[in-house]
Amino acid sequence: MGRLLPALALSALACSPPAFAEPADTPWDPGLLHAPHRRDGRFFNPWAPFERRFWGALRWYLSRNPYDKSSAPQLRVVPNDGSGFATVERSASVTWVGHATFAVHDDADVFLTDPHFGSRALIPKRQVPPGVPIESIPDDAFAVISHNHYDHLDEWSVEHLPESMAWFVPMGLGDWFREHGRERVAELDWWESRRHGRWTVTCLPSQHWSRRLGQGTDEVLWCSWLLDSGERRYYFAGDTGYFGGFAEFGRRFGPIDVAMLPIGAYEPRWFMRNQHMDPAEAWRAFQDLGARWMLPMHWGTFDLTDEPLDLPPKELLRAVAEARGDASRIRILAVGEEWHVE
Ligand code: ZN
Ligand code: ZN
Repeated sequence: MGRLLPALALSALACSPPAFAEPADTPWDPGLLHAPHRRDGRFFNPWAPFERRFWGALRWYLSRNPYDKSSAPQLRVVPNDGSGFATVERSASVTWVGHATFAVHDDADVFLTDPHFGSRALIPKRQVPPGVPIESIPDDAFAVISHNHYDHLDEWSVEHLPESMAWFVPMGLGDWFREHGRERVAELDWWESRRHGRWTVTCLPSQHWSRRLGQGTDEVLWCSWLLDSGERRYYFAGDTGYFGGFAEFGRRFGPIDVAMLPIGAYEPRWFMRNQHMDPAEAWRAFQDLGARWMLPMHWGTFDLTDEPLDLPPKELLRAVAEARGDASRIRILAVGEEWHVE
């Protein structure tokens, strides 16, 4: 029963017609990253036809969760009142607010990724409070949004963050922000960039999909983001399956300093693999990007899938040890923890 609510939420969001082909094992073609990705009013991943989401959600709901989730997950929280955002950072620091939300404090600037300070992601309840209070976010902060799923685009947060904030969103989401009284919104297609002060903000592909009440399946684009201050480069993956894009981003935009990569919401693999990476794939994505630091995210906040909420970082360290990787490149932050970029 523990899976009923997330499964229902996901199936409510996943009612797409069962017309998607099973993913083909075709060789990776980087040209597809630049191919047209909209047809008949819907976006799609040109390199990866999606599996059947509605029937998949139903099959998932009817299956048994092999994981034991009877004990409370171990989640670390560090008290943080966010007062540091009002100062000028000596270099740069990153604070994990929870799930896919980071507050990056670089010099005098603060930007947020998929800001979610709310109590629910539609149905799943927040398991730990946000790492900093929403009131601590400065008026001149800006934010990037990866897609419209409820664990990434939170209406309450958008309404309670400063009205003066600038927003960078994927194609099709601009109207939603204007309807919520947020006029400083830039809507970007994959590979488009905008300047924002000293920052170059670039919208990049991700392997995902979209749906939200009032926004039909794949009517709005999904993306990842590259934020370049001129001095430091941050990559924020949003939600994504593993795909060949990471190597291309590394080639085009490297060296990347910090890669914020999702490691949670990955079980069962037969249903999730096209939309969410597992920890081993996130490590592979980090290698492909050739980034300096990996900040794992998308775990420990909302219980969305079969695996226990505190399993993803353990699985990540296990996978990295198995691959004989250098785990010292990973910073697994506690909620509220501020890490200074070294
Ligand atoms: Zn999503
Ligand atoms: Zn998500």
